[in-house]
Amino acid sequence: MNLALNQQVILDSYFSYLKVAEGVYRILVDRKYCNTELIIGNEYAAVIDCGLGFGDLPAAVRALTDKPLILFNTHSHIDHIGGNAQFGIPVHMGSEDIEAAKHAEYSSFREHLMENRIHSLGPDSVVGMDTHEFLHRGPGEMVPCEDGEVFDLGGRTLKVFAIPGHSRGGRAFYLEEEKILYTGDAVFACTLCFGPGSSGRKAYIEGLKRLQHLPFTDILSGHYIEPFNHAFIDKAIHTAELADFETGIPLPNPIDSNARVCFPKDTPPTPEIIERIRQGDHGLDNKVWAVVLSSPE
Ligand SMILES: [Zn+2]
Ligand SMILES: [Zn+2]
Repeated sequence: MNLALNQQVILDSYFSYLKVAEGVYRILVDRKYCNTELIIGNEYAAVIDCGLGFGDLPAAVRALTDKPLILFNTHSHIDHIGGNAQFGIPVHMGSEDIEAAKHAEYSSFREHLMENRIHSLGPDSVVGMDTHEFLHRGPGEMVPCEDGEVFDLGGRTLKVFAIPGHSRGGRAFYLEEEKILYTGDAVFACTLCFGPGSSGRKAYIEGLKRLQHLPFTDILSGHYIEPFNHAFIDKAIHTAELADFETGIPLPNPIDSNARVCFPKDTPPTPEIIERIRQGDHGLDNKVWAVVLSSPE
């Protein structure tokens, strides 16, 4: 099965959702593609990633289920953990990412998010918001979530896989009964494997290879609506293995001056794509396939 996700249903001024399958939803913040996933079992409901932190995410989840919740993060980046603390229960996160999340500085990035929101949706879009609470909210209580763990939701099972690369403690969650793999930002058209919290190419490839044998039909990632199919994992591995660091295009980004957008040797980028990268577009759509590395390995 390849999922077709459409019919966005508006929940409130912040949230909308898409139905993936019976009892399986994607909740979107600002009607954009920073995805929170909800999987409802007979006993528990799992929430994977908690978005930017705008609005009342627990209320959005409660509009769809009254089951006791288990929270998960695919990784520790702010756009995935922003709403963790609003739930008041621990969140399961890859152990290698927990320290990074504890010591991250959130307020300046959240200020930037607020400015973006006002810029795109107007000043009314933040009326009534507790700005101080939003800017200073931490990552919530975190408990380690390790490769090989299995969470039984009652009739639905989530299996945990470590996928370092985009972040050291990245985790994928396999929903066995629906054959869906949730990967956060670790499987994209251009995966970012650079910066202080990332792992290099070798660890990234090893993680992807452990997903390759799983019989999933759809990959749901952190920032797209459209699922990727199973073959996308093969493509990701191929790209990472053949990515040519030497001819990579410098990424216009101050985080890591070595970071380069690297294309596989057998499919070099077209001049148009090179121009896009130079303009600062590092391929976060379905059209560009590359990986961002900060060293050859
Ligand atoms: Zn990320
Ligand atoms: Zn992200």
